[in-house]
Amino acid sequence: MSGADALHEACGVFGVFSANEDREAAPLVYYGLFSLQHRGQESAGIAALRDKSIECRKGMGLVGEVFTPESIVQLRGQAAIGHVRYSTSGSSSIENAQPFVSRFKLGSIAVAHNGTLTNADVVRELLEDSGVGFTSSSDSEVIVNLIAKNYKKGIERALTDTIKFIKGSYALLVLTDEALVGARDPNGIRPLCLGKLSLPGKPGKPDWLDTGWILASESCAIDAVGGEFVRDIEPGEVIIINKEQVLSFTFSEKTPRAVCAFEYVYFARPDSVLDGLDVYAARVRAGELLGRESAVAADLVIGVPDSGVPAAIGYGRATGTAYGLGIVKSKYVGRTFIAPEQADRERAVSVKHNVIRSEVEGKRVVVIDDSIVRGTTSRRLVSILRKAGAREVHIRICSPPVRFPCYFGIDTPHRKDLISNLNSVDELCASLGADSLAFISVEGLLESLNAAPAPAGKGRKNNSNSCGYCLGCFTGEYPIPVPGEDH
Ligand code: SF4
Repeated sequence: MSGADALHEACGVFGVFSANEDREAAPLVYYGLFSLQHRGQESAGIAALRDKSIECRKGMGLVGEVFTPESIVQLRGQAAIGHVRYSTSGSSSIENAQPFVSRFKLGSIAVAHNGTLTNADVVRELLEDSGVGFTSSSDSEVIVNLIAKNYKKGIERALTDTIKFIKGSYALLVLTDEALVGARDPNGIRPLCLGKLSLPGKPGKPDWLDTGWILASESCAIDAVGGEFVRDIEPGEVIIINKEQVLSFTFSEKTPRAVCAFEYVYFARPDSVLDGLDVYAARVRAGELLGRESAVAADLVIGVPDSGVPAAIGYGRATGTAYGLGIVKSKYVGRTFIAPEQADRERAVSVKHNVIRSEVEGKRVVVIDDSIVRGTTSRRLVSILRKAGAREVHIRICSPPVRFPCYFGIDTPHRKDLISNLNSVDELCASLGADSLAFISVEGLLESLNAAPAPAGKGRKNNSNSCGYCLGCFTGEYPIPVPGEDH
C-alpha cells in the first residue's frame, strides 16, 4: 500500500529517564523519534523536565523538519518524552500536536499518547461541564486534563483514576515533575516496551556508567539509541520511573490480550520485536502460509516495498518460485502525496512505485502486498507491470480482506470506501485487472503470529477475543465495545 491508499498508524511515543542529572534526555528522544517516524509524519514534539519544570517544543512535519541541533540543545533535563503523530482523532494541526503539557498549581505534566479513546466525547463533556478548558480537538487532551484534575491525590492515584475513566486503546507516556510514567491499555492493543541505557559518563567525570530507562512504541527505537531491550509493558500495566526506583503495578482486572494484528502485517518496522514476536519473521511466515494456501504457477514473485518484501521471500520459499526485486519505491515521496482526490491518488501511486522492466518482462509474476484498502495501489501496480511486459499478474495479499473500520488508533477509510467491503474477491480481482487474487485467511494470519485460532462467532460485535490479537478490521469483532457504526 502507499500514500492515501494505506492505513496509517496513529502515533509513536518515546521517553527517557536518566539516573544521571547531567545526562540530557532530549537528544536521545530526538534519535528515538527518528526511528519511529514511520508511525506518524504529520507532527513531532518533545517535552523535557528540568528543575521541576517542563518545557516543550513541537511543530508540524517530520522530526528532522521540526527540530534543529540548536533547538534540541535548548531542551535541557534528565527526563523527556516525545511523540510523532498521524491524526486519527482531531485534525492535522499544531493545536493537536503532542506532547500536551498542562501547568497547574501543584505542578506540571506532559502526555504523549498512541491510540484512540472510544469514549473521549463523553469524558470531554463531563470535564467541560466541571469547568475544564480544552485547547485542541484531540482525544489525548482528555487524558492530560483528567490526570491534572486528580493530581493532588499523587501521580499513582491520579493515573489509576484517569485510566478507570477512559476506554479504548492507549500506549501512554506521562512526564511529571519527578517521574517518567508509562501505561498500556488493558488489552494491549497498541505496543509499548521498556529498555535500559548504560552510557559512559561525561568527559571529565569519573569513569562510571550511568543508567537510564527508555519507554518506546517499538524495540527498534531502543536499538537506535544504543539501549538494551528489557521487556514489553504488559496490557493493563503502569510503570513509574523516578530517581529512586522503577515501580510497576497492574491497574485492570485480567482482560484478554488483543494486540493489533496489523502491527505485524504493516505498521511496525521489520527490525522490531513486539510482544515477544519478531516482526520480520512473522511477515516471512505469513508469506509462506499464503504460498501454501494459494500458490499459483509463476516465474517470479516480487514484494511491494517495504512490508510486502519479507512476505514475498516467504512465498518464494514455500512455493519454489524465484524471488526478485521487481518494484522500486521512491523513498522521498511521503506526505506530499497524501492527495484528497481519487485522480490525484492514482497519479501519486505511479510516482511512488516503478517497475524494473528487465526483471518482469515476459514472465508470470506474483505480486505480494500487505493489504488492499481502496484498491488504488494494486490497480496501478497491475497496470504498470503489464506495461513493462509481465505476461501474467497474480496478486497475493498477506492480510485478510479489510472490511471494517478501526476504532483503536488506525486511520481507516469510511466503510463505504473499503473496497473489500463492497466486492467479492472475484469482483475485486476483475476490477484490479489481475489474472488472479487471493488473501491469506484469518487462520493463516494467526498461524503466522503463532496464535491460537480466533474463537468462532462471526458477526458478534465486541466479543472477548481469546486468540491474543485484535482482528477487528478483518472480522468486525472488536475486543472492546466500539461506538455505533458511523462509517
Ligand atoms: S481493528 Fe485492525 S487496525 Fe485496528 S487495532 Fe484491530 S487489527 Fe489493528
